[in-house]
Amino acid sequence: MPTTQNKDYYGLLGVKKEATSDDIRKAFRKLARRYHPDVNPGDKKSEEKFKEISEANDVLSDEKKRKIYDQVGFYSDQIDPAQAEAYARQQSGGGQPPVDFGGFDFSGFQGGPGAGPGQQAGAGSQSWGSFKDIFSGIFSGAQQPHRPAGPQPGTDLEYQATVDFWTAIRGGQARIQVNRQETCPSCHGQASSGGPMPCPECNGTGQVTQMGGRMKFNIPCPRCNGTGRTSNACATCQGEGVVSRTETVDFRIKAGTRDGQRIRLQGKGNAGLNGGAAGDLFLIVRTGTHPVFTRVGDDIHLTVPVTIAEASLGAKVDVPTIDGRAQLKIPPATQSGQKLRMRERGVENAQRPDQRGDEIVTIEVVVPLLQDERSREIMRELAKLNNQDPRVALFEKGRE
Ligand SMILES: [Zn+2]
Ligand SMILES: [Zn+2]
Repeated sequence: MPTTQNKDYYGLLGVKKEATSDDIRKAFRKLARRYHPDVNPGDKKSEEKFKEISEANDVLSDEKKRKIYDQVGFYSDQIDPAQAEAYARQQSGGGQPPVDFGGFDFSGFQGGPGAGPGQQAGAGSQSWGSFKDIFSGIFSGAQQPHRPAGPQPGTDLEYQATVDFWTAIRGGQARIQVNRQETCPSCHGQASSGGPMPCPECNGTGQVTQMGGRMKFNIPCPRCNGTGRTSNACATCQGEGVVSRTETVDFRIKAGTRDGQRIRLQGKGNAGLNGGAAGDLFLIVRTGTHPVFTRVGDDIHLTVPVTIAEASLGAKVDVPTIDGRAQLKIPPATQSGQKLRMRERGVENAQRPDQRGDEIVTIEVVVPLLQDERSREIMRELAKLNNQDPRVALFEKGRE
């Protein structure tokens, strides 16, 4: 069982252990003026502080309570002054084994049967309302459960989805494996399986141990507020309300979807809690490559080899396009590296399906390997007939 720290009431009020009741009253008044919730509306820290100094004052301003506190290190209405006395004597004697006061019920200051509401009123706090009024009113929020009760929306997910080259161009279905948090199928997101179970903090006893010097006292378990029962955490989701699951998500790809495009799948993100809406799944499309075609936006690029004869004389050649074969007209004297545009032979635009990109062909002149003497002769003759120097411009520019 967990134990809690004893509070230093003297330290809280800033007084010495030998302080008179007058010292204590003055110290409390001074601090109360500073930390009272009416002076610091909405300030949680001041509220906590005021609660602490009020508790300290409640004990130290009462002679009987103060004596018990001095003897055992903390105060409870359930401690019999005679037992505290015996304990204090035992402590000063030394060497004794720890005394187990495990049967004691320390119900503290909040609603304890012996804690009279107006007991510390003599300290001059009448105008601020009694101790109990403050605790049942302003501080009632302290007993709230940890988990916020309202609906919490699920978070969004982002995944990269690689889509086949052709699917991205023509459109179609694709799928991706996604790891997402889904509403627990056992408890439907309620995080508990309904029936109460023994509180795991106190093993259903409703009490945990607090050390008072070397004495052990039982106090109400803070988790179950001393009831010993707590709602049964769902075994499937360990009380999270959601479970992690790898799921195959099918999604539609529009014709002309580009690399890097985001697709939003509403409600396919992580599940929300307590009926909160699920997040969205964002897919970043990565389009696959192709051995011949290179896609740049809506344009298709490719390199087409041509012979010297085709390049110099001009020709009509068949080239591949994404729609199949198409004829490309090569003008006479086309140079290697020159780009020819085939209008509207590219990819359909995803936003405007009536628009298409182009196919851009880069010409690559292939120099023939001359195998026979006759071909070499013709080539030499051709060179004599056309004795242009292709490097003239190079030297002209080199002089500049
Ligand atoms: Zn569950
Ligand atoms: Zn408990």
